[in-house]
Amino acid sequence: MLIKAAKKGKKHPKRTPSAAYFARVEAPMNGISVKMNKNLRICELKWESRFTDRFLGDPEKEIFSRQVRNVLYSNVLPTGVSAPQLIGWSDDLAATLGVLRPQEDVASIEILSGNRVHPEMKPYSSRYGGHQFGQWAGQLGDGRAITLGEIISPHFKRWELQLKGAGATPYSRRADGRAVLRSSLREFLCSEAMHFLNVPTTRALSLVVTGDLVVRDLFYDGNPRPEPGAIVCRVSPSFLRFGHFEILANQGEEVLLKDLAQFLVEFLNENQLASFELSDPDVYGKLLDEICRSTAVLVAHWMRVGFVHGVMNTDNMSVLGLTIDYGPYGWLEPYDPDWTPNTTDSQARRYRFGNQPGVAQWNLMRLCEAFFPLIRDEQRLYQSLKIYEDTFQQTHMEMMSQKLGLCSLEQKYLDELFQLLRMAETDYTLFFRALSDWKMDSTHFEKWIEWISPAFYKPESVGHDLRMRWAAWAKEYSQMLRFQGVPDLDRSLRIKAVNPKYVLRNYLAQNAIQQAENGDLSGIERLLRVLKTPYEDLPSESDLAEKRPDWARNAPGCSALSCSS
Ligand code: AMP
Ligand code: MG
Repeated sequence: MLIKAAKKGKKHPKRTPSAAYFARVEAPMNGISVKMNKNLRICELKWESRFTDRFLGDPEKEIFSRQVRNVLYSNVLPTGVSAPQLIGWSDDLAATLGVLRPQEDVASIEILSGNRVHPEMKPYSSRYGGHQFGQWAGQLGDGRAITLGEIISPHFKRWELQLKGAGATPYSRRADGRAVLRSSLREFLCSEAMHFLNVPTTRALSLVVTGDLVVRDLFYDGNPRPEPGAIVCRVSPSFLRFGHFEILANQGEEVLLKDLAQFLVEFLNENQLASFELSDPDVYGKLLDEICRSTAVLVAHWMRVGFVHGVMNTDNMSVLGLTIDYGPYGWLEPYDPDWTPNTTDSQARRYRFGNQPGVAQWNLMRLCEAFFPLIRDEQRLYQSLKIYEDTFQQTHMEMMSQKLGLCSLEQKYLDELFQLLRMAETDYTLFFRALSDWKMDSTHFEKWIEWISPAFYKPESVGHDLRMRWAAWAKEYSQMLRFQGVPDLDRSLRIKAVNPKYVLRNYLAQNAIQQAENGDLSGIERLLRVLKTPYEDLPSESDLAEKRPDWARNAPGCSALSCSS
């Protein structure tokens, strides 16, 4: 189907690029000349692109939905919007990138909204495929993401900046290339929240409302309605996914497959994310090992903080082991391994909380298959998959031990805890945080229930047998703590360092969305500020660390989310 071509030639300034890409001020200090970095306006940045320098793009320059072959990307200009307004900004990421908040800086906001393209940029959308809900889905690609290029931060780190929701691309299929405010706000807030929880993730620099309406059928019930459109500028060292490799293997484009693997090897080396020997005949096996390892660590973190991605399709899996593509994700409130926030998946529950480690492994199998033409040794692929299994097991157990303030842990003891948490409908975040206050010499195990009951959603339904099981568990817990001999205060600090007080509870995000849709940005600002220090006790913000209120139990946007975005 022919999709409306992006408006071309839109505000392409013909001015010369600013020379101040990486402004350095020579400042004498103790007689030594040091180089100080000055933060730059977005419109002053110098843009590079290793990806487009290295690979040839799609020869077809018109923007219409199509199957693209033998290339990794298509050049695409963002489609302009009517009245861009900056409503979200990550000061922390801006400082990392060395860029200034575009307060009254119209030129920079125009770049973040896709209305302006710097002459050095070579914007593109990339081609990838993927397995969705267990089935090969063919070509997917950046249907609404456009990479502007790369910038080099003051720490000489290379970052890719990408606009999500900036208009149609050759990969948009039947959709419009746009994004609505509610889903963009969720991506913006959660990317930053995950970063501060120490969970590997892509980041979000800005959130712009476009001034244009986008029509979406929120509940997929035949009631489409116009909603405010928005664009997130997301940032990552790379947005390469499993699906970038899968599409090449699926289409038999083996030369390109090898080139892309080579590119990734060099990229990881250059960014000091790995150190591969380029001449190693097993270099692609080692690359797979690294992807398996980083994916295992990622999923262990999700299980640690109670994050449910919701759409772990292989096109949503980063080869850097980052959380990517925030859609109908959710935060576990009552502990329930079968819970998924994604209404599209409510029957099969493929992407439920407890299934995430298994799904990641299944996804890695698909990636291993894609790598087969480069390795041609099934046993070697199994070796990589074993790395996933071992790393996940080890990291998960380490993290769960840390959550409990223990040095080590037996699986059966953990299994019993998970059963108890589930049976007593216990808030995952509140329970683990509360452990920081438990005294190891406490012998009043009958008091345990009273003590943890603030974390129960239905304390009145925790019957006698369950109380007894909890008491037995707590007794063993206290014995383990005593055996370890770590003073209460030290243990308390350690527990607090890995068990967040503040997470982006589903209803909190939903409240901020409703406020923003009514023009009140205070909710976004508050959440951004508080989620920056999720492990701190902030007495004035304690209402954000409370159990999900009853009204949110089944409210749309709070416990159940569709893929509509
Ligand atoms: P997701 O479920 O968000 O991972 O998206 C799956 C695929 O659909 C990706 O190729 C997306 O780029 C594409 N897609 C999702 N929403 C849109 C949209 N509004 N316009 C164009 N492509 C989209
Ligand atoms: Mg996606």
